[in-house]
Amino acid sequence: MYKIKILHYEKQYLLEELIKVFLRPDQYRLLDADEAEDGDTIIINKEGSQDKNEINRQIYRQLSALTGQRPAWGILTGIRPVKLCGELYEKTGSGDEAVRILTQDYYLSQEKASLLLRLYLYQQDIAGRPPENSAGVYIGIPFCPTRCVYCSFASNQVPDSEIEKYLAALHREIEYTGRRMAETGMTPESVYIGGGTPTTLTAGQLDALIASIQTSFDLSAVREFTVEAGRPDTITADKLQVLKARGIDRISINPQSMKAQTLDIIGRSHSPEDILRAFALARDYGFDHINCDVIAGLPEESAADFSDTLRQVMDMDPESITVHCLAVKRASRLVDIDRDFHYKQGARVAEMLARGEIELAERGYEPYYLYRQKHMAGAFENTGYCKKGKECIYNIRIMDEHQSIIALGAGGISKVYYPAENRLERVANVTNYQEYIKRIDEMLNRKEKNIFMEVKKWQS
Ligand code: SF4
Repeated sequence: MYKIKILHYEKQYLLEELIKVFLRPDQYRLLDADEAEDGDTIIINKEGSQDKNEINRQIYRQLSALTGQRPAWGILTGIRPVKLCGELYEKTGSGDEAVRILTQDYYLSQEKASLLLRLYLYQQDIAGRPPENSAGVYIGIPFCPTRCVYCSFASNQVPDSEIEKYLAALHREIEYTGRRMAETGMTPESVYIGGGTPTTLTAGQLDALIASIQTSFDLSAVREFTVEAGRPDTITADKLQVLKARGIDRISINPQSMKAQTLDIIGRSHSPEDILRAFALARDYGFDHINCDVIAGLPEESAADFSDTLRQVMDMDPESITVHCLAVKRASRLVDIDRDFHYKQGARVAEMLARGEIELAERGYEPYYLYRQKHMAGAFENTGYCKKGKECIYNIRIMDEHQSIIALGAGGISKVYYPAENRLERVANVTNYQEYIKRIDEMLNRKEKNIFMEVKKWQS
């Protein structure tokens, strides 16, 4: 067990994220300020710096020397590395300079720094800066047929009567938000119905939900309307017909793995054949923008299994593929089974991602957005790949953080963008769907006070 003592810095929890990139929680102990160190204790920040990056550089150097690891993301533990690269690019006016700072000051590998620059320039080219007063609209459906073992989202398995009550409350929030956005001059640029699994709803419920969105919001400037179909076992002909008739242009069908045994282990109630069937059905209904999510590092999967999943998914020829790395979050069941699972997956996930990147490139998929999460296998990243012109604007904007996201439904977290200060303010709905139904008036008041009144202030 390593003993680590960080001197002269109060917010030690901010630094622990980086320590955990090198060491599992059972491999080290942080000593309190008044605990005596011995000859083996790793002492950080003897100089008393208050610069978090400087202290993180020391941690990186010392733990690198100790473990022989050189994590490719350097000292970065934040979620949005492309945003940082963009800020450096804008500040210095030079891509080379941004890459130099990322490698020398943040210790990123040359490969990751160059990837960030490439993604930033690509996104600027595709999406540019968001139109003034535009927003992404997110609508959450927190229901799924079963709960996946790694799930940390709002995902409930409930009877239809509960879903009806939820939709009634959601309809009120949609109607209110659509009206107030129009009155305050906020224009949706993208709409994203996510979850949970929105296609848990019946065809009739989906139709009514989208109709409610279409009558409540001014969608004249919307570039993209996504419905995350997600679980193949919820995708039926009548639901696809509704989505098509309602003009939905992008859907997601998420295999996660094409190995039957893995799907069983992770608690998905569908087979690989269900995925193929749902995908073919969506094509039959004319969907020409389908995304597929896959996960690297799932329990009991080898690099060959992941490669096989990727090959089968690419054979279906979706327009985009999002490669996630398994994250073991506190709210998931996986954390009870093996809380250190993700620490053990590092080498295997590295191999999966490296092979996947090559295989995806060979089939014409380019990376277009990237983000990181805490507790990810190997501290890697999630990457969205797509065929040229099939990017998801909503995904780009949410990671870029220069546009408001207005989120509706249980667990929805709105982010209000203050252009003058270039910052975001979070406005959260309650996560529990029953509380959401009960407290819907309070949710509307929160939106009024923290979003629409704020927008009005900076407009006047
Ligand atoms: S489909 Fe997604 S939201 Fe639903 S249980 Fe699985 S991980 Fe959670």
